[in-house]
Amino acid sequence: MIAELRIDLDIIAANWRLLCNRHPGGAVAAVVKADAYGLGAAQVAPRLLREGCRHFFTAHPAEAAALRPLLPGVMIGVLNGLWPGEAGEYAARDLVPVLGSAREVEAWGAEARRLGRRLPALLHVDTGMNRLGLDARDLDLIANEPERLASIELLAIMTHLVSAEQPENPFNQRQLQRFRAACARLPAAPRSIANSSGMFLGPDFASDLARPGAALYGVNPTPGRPSPVTVPLRLRAKVLQLRDVPAGEPVGYNGIWTAQRPSRIATIAVGYADGYLRSLSNAAEACFDGRRVPLVGRVSMDLTTFDVTDHPGIGPDSWLELIGPAVTPDQLAAWAGTNGYEILTSLGARYPRAYGGA
Ligand SMILES: *Cc1c(COP(=O)(O)O)cnc(C)c1O
Repeated sequence: MIAELRIDLDIIAANWRLLCNRHPGGAVAAVVKADAYGLGAAQVAPRLLREGCRHFFTAHPAEAAALRPLLPGVMIGVLNGLWPGEAGEYAARDLVPVLGSAREVEAWGAEARRLGRRLPALLHVDTGMNRLGLDARDLDLIANEPERLASIELLAIMTHLVSAEQPENPFNQRQLQRFRAACARLPAAPRSIANSSGMFLGPDFASDLARPGAALYGVNPTPGRPSPVTVPLRLRAKVLQLRDVPAGEPVGYNGIWTAQRPSRIATIAVGYADGYLRSLSNAAEACFDGRRVPLVGRVSMDLTTFDVTDHPGIGPDSWLELIGPAVTPDQLAAWAGTNGYEILTSLGARYPRAYGGA
């Protein structure tokens, strides 16, 4: 084995419990879209079910359908809404669409009437994202004709925050006001507001159902402040080859790094095809024995090089830690110019995965 991704399900469960403790007035769902942000929904979701989680969300209906046999008896919501022509499929598999337009409300209501029973749904009100969710016109339609919801069991009315990770951003309060005004015009129902960061914006943003994803997987929901959650993954790669490079010699594609002194270069079999982003070229560090090791040259598709000149302990079979407690997804994201979400959802399919704490 030349690289390995270890995922500790106990840590994900502990992160979920920590979020529950922060949200005493309401339930806490688990967002497991995009294969639980790359960490494995088929492993993560059943672990959280065992922990007591009763609400799960995916983005696509196929993701939800795949989890249905693993999550008997609990809600699986589909955040991207009711997809055209798929109402029968949602109903047959007991998937709960997050209805985001009057058209989706109509289609789900029609399916309910066809089946002769009420069907569960969440209703998504847009308060500023302008992506999905009822716009002003659709809100008017439904507020003025609430019988459009007659055959729908409204599990919650929800909205989604645009900048929850920026506590000072006045848009957070504006969305809250818009949401309250919309709810006042709709039938009484539980409410769902916060994502991970929204859960740290104070009691106004608490609701009947919080919807954290990223924080479960170790992304800091409070950027710029110490993280309240723990990183549950560890990605390490074994040194594939060590070589001595004379001063003045370039390393890697386009020679964007040149040895300034006689240097020792370690090559690992991980590259951008594994989601170790090319934008990390000349910019990142790995960790060995508690010390940082600089990445030098371009990240290539299947290989990456590190300058280990100052680390005589690194030998041919040494392991470099690429992601873990010492090099967090957020840290790697800062070097790559992205966010921790993209680091996690980019984790490659070639890594052998090992789960702990199942
Ligand atoms: C992805 C998503 C979430 C979870 O967001 P995190 O920032 O990962 O906690 C919650 N709600 C909606 C609508 C989403 O799309």
